[in-house]
Amino acid sequence: MQLLFTSGSPSDTVEIGRALGAALRPGDVVALYGDLGAGKTLFCKGVGEALGIPPDRILSPTFTIVTEHAGPVPLTHIDVYRLAVAREADEIGMRELLSGDGVCLVEWAEKIEELLPTDCIQVRFAFSGDDRREIAIAAPDLPGFGEFLARSIRFQRGG
Ligand code: ADP
Ligand code: MG
Repeated sequence: MQLLFTSGSPSDTVEIGRALGAALRPGDVVALYGDLGAGKTLFCKGVGEALGIPPDRILSPTFTIVTEHAGPVPLTHIDVYRLAVAREADEIGMRELLSGDGVCLVEWAEKIEELLPTDCIQVRFAFSGDDRREIAIAAPDLPGFGEFLARSIRFQRGG
């Protein structure tokens, strides 16, 4: 099942992320797809906020590749933009990171597609104007999906 959302501002994107974050459980992997500036990191701020991590602590881990945040539910934030090939992901222990106890967010997920769990939650961003983004979210197996729908209803397209 895939849901479509329209975000009209950076804060909308944070709010949709927060709604999803509230529905996540330890062990969930969220794969984020979309070009530079699409809103992936902002969305991660919202997810982090729902998990009790201050938004100013969630920065783009483009250069560090991995940032781990301690919290009631630990959050692993990964950005694989700078990885040349999936083999490098293996070398930094990506499989272990993806199967950790906390929530795991992966920016530029398309680069490590073959390493992602098949039941991961997919969030795809597309530009549709200066401050507009279309966000498609597929969550094959999320028990909190109903709660997420209720929290994000005002951004849902055709809903
Ligand atoms: P990414 O991680 O995908 O490269 P970021 O979240 O770091 O993207 O940055 C998104 C940029 O786009 C920010 O500068 C933000 O202010 C801008 N922006 C404008 N409109 C939106 C929107 N609706 N949602 C998300 N970001 C937006
Ligand atoms: Mg980013």
